[in-house]
Amino acid sequence: MNVLDSQLVRGSLQSLGYTFTDDWRNADVVLYNTCSVREQAENKAYSRIGLVGMRKKENPDIVLGVIGCMAERDGVDMFRRHPQVDLICGPGELDKVPLLIDNVMRTRMSSRFKVQGSELGNKKPDATRDGASTRNFEHGTLNYSLQGNTHRRSSTLAAAEDTLELLDLARSFSPDEHQGSAYVRITRGCNKFCTYCVVPNTRGREVHRAPDAIVEECRKLVESGVVEITLLGQTVNHYHYDHATAQSINGIVQPQVGSIVNNTKAHGLPSVGGSGADKSENVTTFAQLLARIHDEIPQLQRLRFVTSFPRDFGDDILHTIAARPRICRYLHLPVQSGSNRMLKLMNRGYTVEEYLELIARIRRILPDATLASDLICGFPSETEEDHKATCDLMRAAGWKNSFIFKYSPRPGTTAIDRFEDDVPEEIKKARNNELLRIQGDVSEEIHRTWVGKTVRVFVESVSHREQKKQKAAIAATSHVQLRWDATHDNSTTTNATLAPTLAPPPPAQTTSITQLTGRTDGDLIVMFDGDASLVGSIVEVKIHKHAPLALFGEQVV
Ligand code: SAH
Ligand code: SF4
Repeated sequence: MNVLDSQLVRGSLQSLGYTFTDDWRNADVVLYNTCSVREQAENKAYSRIGLVGMRKKENPDIVLGVIGCMAERDGVDMFRRHPQVDLICGPGELDKVPLLIDNVMRTRMSSRFKVQGSELGNKKPDATRDGASTRNFEHGTLNYSLQGNTHRRSSTLAAAEDTLELLDLARSFSPDEHQGSAYVRITRGCNKFCTYCVVPNTRGREVHRAPDAIVEECRKLVESGVVEITLLGQTVNHYHYDHATAQSINGIVQPQVGSIVNNTKAHGLPSVGGSGADKSENVTTFAQLLARIHDEIPQLQRLRFVTSFPRDFGDDILHTIAARPRICRYLHLPVQSGSNRMLKLMNRGYTVEEYLELIARIRRILPDATLASDLICGFPSETEEDHKATCDLMRAAGWKNSFIFKYSPRPGTTAIDRFEDDVPEEIKKARNNELLRIQGDVSEEIHRTWVGKTVRVFVESVSHREQKKQKAAIAATSHVQLRWDATHDNSTTTNATLAPTLAPPPPAQTTSITQLTGRTDGDLIVMFDGDASLVGSIVEVKIHKHAPLALFGEQVV
């Protein structure tokens, strides 16, 4: 989700003439897109903000912005604690980022004019310009755009005022923006209120985008060369668009707020049809959206989606996938815990037995599907017995991988208010390691079954190992060249400060065969040697070796 947000903000700035640099030290505007889900992610962001702050002492013209969940969660308090920050913008307001940067520049200009006694200097900056606010503050002027208290308004008016949709609609379709793979948001926010999670507070309530806008975006992406599309939503399978209440403003069919679901009572998983099945012709369900994208865009080679919420997984979705070969048989279905007591405290709304029943349904309808999960260890009051139940579920469920997190109490959540974070850090660590070890064994077993088979792989990039090797080779080449230059320079003896740019470029490569990495239809990671030009395409690879984290093979030509 954050990757897509960054891409969309980047695209909106690019269309206004901003250019980008890989090194923040060369930038005039530095924006950090932040995540608040765990404390560790926030700490990383704060340390980066500190670094830019130090740089700003030398160059006060730099504009430093914090966007995303951390901005929404901290609110204007961030300016008090980090006065080096010039602007903040929540994830529901990202269309305002260019305006906020502009506000910072104008405010600076205006204070400079003030020093010179100009009329403009006496003018106060606009209090509100299209929803982006400026406010005088002890450290200067605040520039922010946050959803604040308004983000849980349930009226259709709130949806009608949805300007964030413009950011998605204005995305760039330039082939330079993607390497054959793109994300498309179908739902924003979340209504589930799991007790540990900040997302419903930082990203606001669930809003579903209009199906026509989604299909059109996918079509344009495919026309620009995209091979693989991943649909995004916090609970992507909960997608539901009611055409009867759809509103259109300035020719744009508006996104629509979703229904609040009461998780406190476990409803049981739908056995047939599920929440996705809706007989009404006026509704587009998730299954119908998948079918539309698949059927209306035959050039799209791969359609994927994340993240699915176990309780909303109806058979209609499974049958839709089973009948459509270009929809990936990969389901990311986070369970969070293998203990019913923990699941209840987490407010997940299902039991372990219901989750296992869902897996059995998936295996029946989609026997070739691969599954993945997220797990939280050390949730308040988690006992050894609860933890063992999670270990058992891990062995029984057969996830090809899982993302394992140590519980991190987050401000603003129900869990931090109601439950003491009473599992000591060393126990959280030990449980985390045990789960990692078991998952490693399960993953290796699953990978073993693929040896000898030929799989379709979407090539994502040159492998990390190869990228590191190439970087080291370039560094070594320039180092050698530097020394060569210095010793052959008659005018100096040695010059240790020679700029690397003085060295001639490394010799042209005669071959571009390198280690590539990609994913199968079922999201298994595959490494193989091939030409770097294959990045962004789908190739066939015969698997000859396996490891816990990846498969290794040879391209079939
Ligand atoms: N919407 C997705 C998850 C989004 S957050 C879903 O419900 O599956 C991604 C993952 O972060 C969660 O699945 C959970 O495992 C983890 N997570 C969220 N809040 C956390 C917290 N406070 N501490 C530790 N892990 C957390
Ligand atoms: Fe957070 Fe639960 Fe919503 Fe996922 S479903 S985003 S964990 S509240």
